[in-house]
Amino acid sequence: MRKLTYLGHSAFFIEKDWDGILIDPFITGNPLANFDYKKKRITHIVVTHAHLDHLGDAIAISKHTGAPIIAVFELANYCMEKGAKAIGVNIGGKLKFGWGTVKFLPAIHTSSNPDLPYGGLAASVLFDIEGTIIYHAGDTSLMSEFDLIRELYSPYYALLPIGGYYTMDMEDAAVAAKMLYAMEVIPMHYNTFPHIKVDVQKFVDMIEEQGQKCLPLKVNEYVEL
Ligand code: ZN
Repeated sequence: MRKLTYLGHSAFFIEKDWDGILIDPFITGNPLANFDYKKKRITHIVVTHAHLDHLGDAIAISKHTGAPIIAVFELANYCMEKGAKAIGVNIGGKLKFGWGTVKFLPAIHTSSNPDLPYGGLAASVLFDIEGTIIYHAGDTSLMSEFDLIRELYSPYYALLPIGGYYTMDMEDAAVAAKMLYAMEVIPMHYNTFPHIKVDVQKFVDMIEEQGQKCLPLKVNEYVEL
């Protein structure tokens, strides 16, 4: 079984056989999320940066499940200080697990929270699940690195923020999708708060006009990988 489930905002859950990889698990406090981590098998937690709408419940989930938080060094240290298990990497680092690999790549964004003034650099992350390449762009702005990411990794799925204000807006995300040349584009980081409310159908139209497939997943909707 290989599934990618959207949990709302920038949170996703990848399941591969007996492994469960949570990404940016902002569940508590997210009015759109409905995910009970106690009912799922979670083996790894990947966090792109320290903002609380991305770090979310990661520390509590790690404490409950024993799953390590994989994050940039400074953020990983903070998670360990809070009693979580963590693995600290840095931009460019790749880790290998039974389910595949995760590589930390650049993002143009910040990384802090009220309890952590400096969380290291913000990241985007690339997963290789038995040859299925999934790129989660984190909270980045539009950046020229997308060209290099396409050239080196050819992601099949691109998970892109479209809400604007804190990240790319949908116009920039459409450019990003074109640069990445992903087969399927999944929008994220929209409609959670008033600042990032968008009409997602407009984004779907833009992506389809470019000849790419857009999957605006509803919360808890999934694709089979
Ligand atoms: Zn952020």
